[in-house]
Amino acid sequence: MKVAFVDRDGTINKDYQDDDWRYINKPELLDGSLEALKVISQKGYQIIIITNQYLINDGIITLLQYREFTEKLLQELNNNGIDILDTFYCPHSRKENCNCFKPKTGLVDMALKKYPHIELDKSFIVGDSVSDVELGNKFGIMTFGINVNSRLFVYTRIESLLDIIKYL
Ligand SMILES: [Mg+2]
Ligand SMILES: [Zn+2]
Repeated sequence: MKVAFVDRDGTINKDYQDDDWRYINKPELLDGSLEALKVISQKGYQIIIITNQYLINDGIITLLQYREFTEKLLQELNNNGIDILDTFYCPHSRKENCNCFKPKTGLVDMALKKYPHIELDKSFIVGDSVSDVELGNKFGIMTFGINVNSRLFVYTRIESLLDIIKYL
């Protein structure tokens, strides 16, 4: 199976300054993200969300807040005919030095372990951070960076998630 590894905040829904996340309890979808996810799914990709959520262990949001926000997001996507196969998140603070904080490979490793039929050579990753494109490069998969500027990594720079449909 081919998979779209999609970052969450700043890619599907609006992102905020760390401290502002305390007060955010529902997702605000970015323009075009629904349409983009629909096309991605119609092109035969299973969608897996991979997201750094260090705010949890930094004590800015609770695990419950994370779960409720994610549940609302998945529900809204589902109401629009978009099924997300799975969501993997890293709750750790940067200083914990876990192996799942993107660009470390843990989140994708977990997905590969849970879904052994993933065909990486047909899959892609998309996100709005350098860590997303760096992660994609570690697996050598097709990589898209939303408004990412880096000369260190190989990726296609796009302006929004919707932009991706030109390349699929
Ligand atoms: Mg992001
Ligand atoms: Zn982690």
